[in-house]
Amino acid sequence: MGAYYDEIEIEDMAWDPQKAVFHYPCPCGDRFEISRRQLADCEDIATCPSCSLVIRVIYDPLDFEDEPEESEDSSTENEGSDDGQVASLEKLSLDD
Ligand SMILES: [Zn+2]
Repeated sequence: MGAYYDEIEIEDMAWDPQKAVFHYPCPCGDRFEISRRQLADCEDIATCPSCSLVIRVIYDPLDFEDEPEESEDSSTENEGSDDGQVASLEKLSLDD
C-alpha cells in the first residue's frame, strides 16, 4: 500500500481509440496508460512508460468483463425485427 502515485477513477481518464488504452497525464510529462484488456483481466495499475510512477485505476470490473460487443448487436437486431413484425400486424388490423 502507498506505492501508487495516485488513485484515479476510470471516468477521469481519457480513452485513446487508436491504441485502445485509457490514459492520464503523468507529472513527468508523459502519461499513465492501461489497456482495456488489462482492465478486463482485473488489473487496475496504470503505468507510465517514461518513469517509475504508477496509479491505481478505480473502476468496476464488471464494466469491462469480456464485453461481447458482437452478441450485443445481434440481440438488438432480434428485438428490432420482433418489434417490426408486431407493428406491421397492428397497422393491418387498424386499416380494417
Ligand atoms: Zn511519468
